[in-house]
Amino acid sequence: MSEQIRPQSSDVVAVAKRKVVCDGPETGRHPRVFLEMNDGEKTVVCPYCSRVFQFAPNEVKKAAHS
Ligand SMILES: [Zn+2]
Repeated sequence: MSEQIRPQSSDVVAVAKRKVVCDGPETGRHPRVFLEMNDGEKTVVCPYCSRVFQFAPNEVKKAAHS
């Protein structure tokens, strides 16, 4: 039986702003890049670490509240 490994590309990060800064996940830092979602888009993918940033201000608020 092989262990299930979650690919990094499936990582989704909820953000409250359309402009995000990414310098990589804890497991693999990369040079800091600025990413911006276009009007009407709710996700942007980091070209370095393939993480997906999703515009979800409600989720971010919930997480910060708990
Ligand atoms: Zn990144």
